[in-house]
Amino acid sequence: MPELPEVETSRRGIEPHLIGRTVESVVVRNRALRWPVSEDVDSGLAHSEVLSVDRRAKYLLINTNNGTAILHLGMSGSVRIVDKDAPAGIHDHFDLELDSGASLRYRDPRRFGSLHWSGDPYAHRLLRDLGPEPLGDDFDGRYLWQCSRKRKLAVKQFIMNANIVVGVGNIYASEALFGARINPKRAAGRIALPRYERLADSIRDVLSRAIEAGGTTLQDFVGGEGEAGYFKQQLDVYDREGLPCRRCNAPVRSIVQGQRATYYCVNCQT
Ligand SMILES: [Zn+2]
Repeated sequence: MPELPEVETSRRGIEPHLIGRTVESVVVRNRALRWPVSEDVDSGLAHSEVLSVDRRAKYLLINTNNGTAILHLGMSGSVRIVDKDAPAGIHDHFDLELDSGASLRYRDPRRFGSLHWSGDPYAHRLLRDLGPEPLGDDFDGRYLWQCSRKRKLAVKQFIMNANIVVGVGNIYASEALFGARINPKRAAGRIALPRYERLADSIRDVLSRAIEAGGTTLQDFVGGEGEAGYFKQQLDVYDREGLPCRRCNAPVRSIVQGQRATYYCVNCQT
Protein backbone atom coordinates (compact mmCIF):
# COMPACT_ATOMS: atom_id res chain seq x y z
CA MET A 1 0.00 0.00 0.00
CA PRO A 2 1.44 3.44 -0.85
CA GLU A 3 2.24 5.17 2.45
CA LEU A 4 2.95 8.85 3.13
CA PRO A 5 6.56 8.68 1.80
CA GLU A 6 5.42 7.07 -1.48
CA VAL A 7 2.67 9.67 -1.88
CA GLU A 8 5.10 12.51 -1.18
CA THR A 9 7.53 11.04 -3.72
CA SER A 10 4.68 10.76 -6.24
CA ARG A 11 3.87 14.43 -5.63
CA ARG A 12 7.47 15.44 -6.25
CA GLY A 13 7.61 13.22 -9.32
CA ILE A 14 4.54 14.65 -11.07
CA GLU A 15 4.61 18.26 -9.87
CA PRO A 16 7.16 19.65 -12.39
CA HIS A 17 5.16 18.15 -15.27
CA LEU A 18 1.86 19.68 -14.12
CA ILE A 19 2.58 23.19 -12.81
CA GLY A 20 1.58 25.88 -15.29
CA ARG A 21 0.00 23.31 -17.62
CA THR A 22 -3.56 23.42 -18.85
CA VAL A 23 -5.61 20.24 -18.70
CA GLU A 24 -6.95 19.88 -22.24
CA SER A 25 -9.24 16.96 -21.47
CA VAL A 26 -10.00 14.30 -18.93
CA VAL A 27 -10.35 10.70 -20.09
CA VAL A 28 -12.08 8.50 -17.52
CA ARG A 29 -12.11 4.84 -18.58
CA ASN A 30 -13.53 3.42 -15.36
CA ARG A 31 -15.52 5.43 -12.80
CA ALA A 32 -15.85 2.49 -10.38
CA LEU A 33 -13.07 3.32 -7.94
CA ARG A 34 -13.57 3.13 -4.17
CA TRP A 35 -16.25 5.80 -4.69
CA PRO A 36 -17.66 6.47 -8.17
CA VAL A 37 -15.73 9.23 -9.93
CA SER A 38 -18.22 12.07 -10.34
CA GLU A 39 -18.48 13.94 -13.64
CA ASP A 40 -17.77 17.09 -11.59
CA VAL A 41 -14.13 16.02 -11.80
CA ASP A 42 -14.12 16.00 -15.60
CA SER A 43 -15.90 19.33 -15.95
CA GLY A 44 -13.85 20.92 -13.14
CA LEU A 45 -10.47 19.87 -14.49
CA ALA A 46 -11.06 20.36 -18.20
CA HIS A 47 -9.49 23.61 -19.49
CA SER A 48 -8.21 24.54 -16.03
CA GLU A 49 -4.61 25.51 -15.31
CA VAL A 50 -2.62 23.62 -12.65
CA LEU A 51 -1.24 26.03 -10.05
CA SER A 52 0.37 23.57 -7.61
CA VAL A 53 0.41 19.96 -6.45
CA ASP A 54 0.15 19.52 -2.69
CA ARG A 55 -0.14 16.56 -0.35
CA ARG A 56 -2.33 16.26 2.75
CA ALA A 57 -1.93 12.94 4.59
CA LYS A 58 -2.03 10.40 1.74
CA TYR A 59 -4.11 12.61 -0.59
CA LEU A 60 -2.62 14.35 -3.60
CA LEU A 61 -4.22 17.74 -4.19
CA ILE A 62 -4.01 19.00 -7.77
CA ASN A 63 -4.84 22.68 -7.33
CA THR A 64 -6.12 24.54 -10.39
CA ASN A 65 -7.47 28.03 -11.05
CA ASN A 66 -10.90 26.40 -10.98
CA GLY A 67 -10.80 24.07 -7.94
CA THR A 68 -8.91 21.06 -6.65
CA ALA A 69 -8.78 17.39 -7.64
CA ILE A 70 -8.31 15.18 -4.55
CA LEU A 71 -6.63 11.90 -5.47
CA HIS A 72 -6.01 8.96 -3.14
CA LEU A 73 -3.89 6.04 -4.36
CA GLY A 74 -5.77 3.43 -2.29
CA MET A 75 -4.05 0.05 -1.94
CA SER A 76 -2.39 -0.23 -5.33
CA GLY A 77 -2.70 3.09 -7.17
CA SER A 78 0.13 4.92 -8.93
CA VAL A 79 0.54 7.98 -11.12
CA ARG A 80 2.82 8.35 -14.12
CA ILE A 81 3.56 10.98 -16.72
CA VAL A 82 3.16 9.34 -20.14
CA ASP A 83 2.93 10.41 -23.76
CA LYS A 84 -0.70 11.28 -24.54
CA ASP A 85 -0.76 8.60 -27.26
CA ALA A 86 0.73 5.80 -25.14
CA PRO A 87 -1.75 2.90 -25.19
CA ALA A 88 -3.63 2.48 -21.90
CA GLY A 89 -3.76 -0.84 -20.06
CA ILE A 90 -6.85 -2.29 -18.40
CA HIS A 91 -5.87 -0.88 -15.00
CA ASP A 92 -5.28 2.67 -16.32
CA HIS A 93 -8.54 4.23 -15.14
CA PHE A 94 -8.07 7.87 -16.07
CA ASP A 95 -5.75 10.33 -17.82
CA LEU A 96 -5.44 14.09 -17.51
CA GLU A 97 -4.30 15.19 -20.96
CA LEU A 98 -2.07 18.24 -20.74
CA ASP A 99 -1.25 20.96 -23.28
CA SER A 100 2.38 19.74 -23.20
CA GLY A 101 1.47 16.56 -25.10
CA ALA A 102 1.90 14.47 -21.96
CA SER A 103 -0.77 12.91 -19.77
CA LEU A 104 -1.00 12.21 -16.07
CA ARG A 105 -2.11 8.58 -16.03
CA TYR A 106 -3.65 6.83 -13.01
CA ARG A 107 -3.26 3.07 -12.69
CA ASP A 108 -4.94 1.07 -9.92
CA PRO A 109 -5.38 -2.71 -10.26
CA ARG A 110 -7.41 -3.08 -7.05
CA ARG A 111 -9.46 0.12 -7.52
CA PHE A 112 -9.42 1.22 -3.87
CA GLY A 113 -8.21 4.67 -4.87
CA SER A 114 -10.48 7.69 -5.27
CA LEU A 115 -10.81 10.96 -7.18
CA HIS A 116 -12.94 13.87 -6.01
CA TRP A 117 -13.42 17.50 -7.02
CA SER A 118 -13.68 20.31 -4.49
CA GLY A 119 -13.67 24.08 -4.37
CA ASP A 120 -12.43 23.93 -0.76
CA PRO A 121 -10.39 20.73 -0.31
CA TYR A 122 -9.40 21.24 3.32
CA ALA A 123 -13.10 21.39 4.27
CA HIS A 124 -13.89 18.24 2.26
CA ARG A 125 -15.25 15.36 4.35
CA LEU A 126 -12.18 13.24 3.54
CA LEU A 127 -9.74 15.83 4.85
CA ARG A 128 -11.43 18.03 7.44
CA ASP A 129 -10.96 15.75 10.50
CA LEU A 130 -7.39 14.67 9.83
CA GLY A 131 -4.73 15.20 12.48
CA PRO A 132 -1.56 17.23 11.83
CA GLU A 133 1.16 16.32 9.36
CA PRO A 134 4.00 14.47 11.13
CA LEU A 135 6.61 16.54 9.26
CA GLY A 136 4.77 19.81 9.83
CA ASP A 137 5.08 22.48 12.53
CA ASP A 138 1.92 21.44 14.42
CA PHE A 139 3.31 18.06 15.42
CA ASP A 140 5.62 17.44 18.35
CA GLY A 141 6.00 15.40 21.53
CA ARG A 142 3.93 17.78 23.60
CA TYR A 143 1.04 17.49 21.15
CA LEU A 144 1.14 13.66 21.35
CA TRP A 145 1.41 13.81 25.14
CA GLN A 146 -1.59 16.14 25.44
CA CYS A 147 -3.78 14.04 23.11
CA SER A 148 -2.90 10.83 24.93
CA ARG A 149 -3.82 11.78 28.50
CA LYS A 150 -6.25 9.25 30.05
CA ARG A 151 -6.20 7.11 26.90
CA LYS A 152 -5.86 3.42 27.56
CA LEU A 153 -5.32 2.14 24.04
CA ALA A 154 -1.88 0.89 23.07
CA VAL A 155 0.55 3.57 21.91
CA LYS A 156 1.05 1.85 18.56
CA GLN A 157 -2.65 2.10 17.73
CA PHE A 158 -2.70 5.65 19.11
CA ILE A 159 -0.02 6.88 16.67
CA MET A 160 -1.65 5.02 13.76
CA ASN A 161 -4.93 6.93 14.25
CA ALA A 162 -5.16 9.53 11.45
CA ASN A 163 -7.25 11.82 13.66
CA ILE A 164 -4.24 12.06 16.01
CA VAL A 165 -1.47 12.28 13.39
CA VAL A 166 -1.60 11.31 9.71
CA GLY A 167 0.76 9.09 7.77
CA VAL A 168 2.09 6.74 10.45
CA GLY A 169 1.37 3.43 8.71
CA ASN A 170 1.89 -0.02 10.19
CA ILE A 171 5.54 -0.45 9.20
CA TYR A 172 6.51 3.07 10.24
CA ALA A 173 4.72 2.72 13.60
CA SER A 174 6.81 -0.34 14.56
CA GLU A 175 10.00 1.31 13.33
CA ALA A 176 9.33 4.61 15.12
CA LEU A 177 8.55 2.88 18.44
CA PHE A 178 11.77 0.90 18.16
CA GLY A 179 13.68 4.13 17.54
CA ALA A 180 12.10 5.69 20.65
CA ARG A 181 12.58 2.50 22.73
CA ILE A 182 8.89 2.38 23.63
CA ASN A 183 6.98 -0.89 23.98
CA PRO A 184 4.15 -0.83 21.40
CA LYS A 185 1.73 -2.39 23.92
CA ARG A 186 2.15 0.37 26.50
CA ALA A 187 -1.04 2.39 27.20
CA ALA A 188 -0.83 5.75 25.41
CA GLY A 189 -1.90 7.59 28.58
CA ARG A 190 0.92 6.05 30.64
CA ILE A 191 3.82 7.52 28.68
CA ALA A 192 5.58 10.64 29.99
CA LEU A 193 6.33 13.80 28.01
CA PRO A 194 10.09 13.18 27.44
CA ARG A 195 9.32 9.79 25.89
CA TYR A 196 6.70 11.36 23.59
CA GLU A 197 9.31 13.91 22.55
CA ARG A 198 11.58 11.03 21.58
CA LEU A 199 8.71 9.32 19.77
CA ALA A 200 7.80 12.43 17.76
CA ASP A 201 11.45 12.79 16.71
CA SER A 202 11.58 9.10 15.81
CA ILE A 203 8.39 9.31 13.67
CA ARG A 204 9.81 12.29 11.79
CA ASP A 205 13.14 10.53 11.33
CA VAL A 206 11.64 7.29 9.98
CA LEU A 207 9.36 9.12 7.52
CA SER A 208 12.08 11.54 6.38
CA ARG A 209 14.46 8.67 5.67
CA ALA A 210 11.77 6.89 3.64
CA ILE A 211 11.11 10.05 1.61
CA GLU A 212 14.85 10.39 1.03
CA ALA A 213 14.98 6.77 -0.18
CA GLY A 214 12.12 7.58 -2.55
CA GLY A 215 14.06 10.47 -4.04
CA THR A 216 16.15 7.98 -6.00
CA THR A 217 13.00 6.77 -7.81
CA LEU A 218 11.82 10.16 -9.10
CA GLN A 219 12.81 9.43 -12.71
CA ASP A 220 10.40 6.45 -12.66
CA PHE A 221 7.44 8.81 -12.75
CA VAL A 222 8.01 9.56 -16.42
CA GLY A 223 7.27 6.91 -19.01
CA GLY A 224 8.05 3.63 -17.21
CA GLU A 225 5.71 0.84 -16.29
CA GLY A 226 6.84 0.58 -12.66
CA GLU A 227 4.35 -0.37 -9.97
CA ALA A 228 3.74 1.38 -6.67
CA GLY A 229 5.54 -0.20 -3.74
CA TYR A 230 7.57 0.33 -0.64
CA PHE A 231 10.94 1.91 -0.93
CA LYS A 232 13.88 -0.24 -0.08
CA GLN A 233 15.17 0.99 3.22
CA GLN A 234 16.77 -0.82 6.08
CA LEU A 235 14.09 -1.80 8.58
CA ASP A 236 15.13 -2.31 12.21
CA VAL A 237 12.29 -4.53 13.44
CA TYR A 238 9.50 -4.81 10.90
CA ASP A 239 9.31 -8.29 9.33
CA ARG A 240 12.36 -9.41 11.33
CA GLU A 241 10.72 -11.86 13.75
CA GLY A 242 13.32 -14.08 15.46
CA LEU A 243 16.24 -12.13 13.98
CA PRO A 244 18.62 -10.35 16.37
CA CYS A 245 17.71 -6.83 17.49
CA ARG A 246 20.13 -4.41 15.83
CA ARG A 247 20.69 -2.74 19.21
CA CYS A 248 20.92 -5.59 21.75
CA ASN A 249 20.88 -8.86 19.75
CA ALA A 250 17.77 -10.24 21.54
CA PRO A 251 15.35 -11.89 19.07
CA VAL A 252 12.76 -9.53 17.57
CA ARG A 253 9.23 -10.53 18.60
CA SER A 254 6.01 -10.32 16.56
CA ILE A 255 2.51 -9.83 17.99
CA VAL A 256 -0.87 -8.80 16.55
CA GLN A 257 -2.49 -5.52 17.59
CA GLY A 258 -5.78 -4.37 16.04
CA GLN A 259 -5.38 -7.11 13.41
CA ARG A 260 -2.02 -5.70 12.31
CA ALA A 261 1.41 -7.24 12.85
CA THR A 262 3.66 -5.44 15.30
CA TYR A 263 7.39 -6.11 15.62
CA TYR A 264 9.46 -5.03 18.60
CA CYS A 265 12.31 -5.91 20.94
CA VAL A 266 11.14 -7.00 24.38
CA ASN A 267 14.55 -6.22 25.78
CA CYS A 268 15.09 -2.63 24.71
CA GLN A 269 11.53 -1.33 24.25
CA THR A 270 9.91 -0.70 27.63
ZN1 LIG B 1 16.86 -4.84 21.53
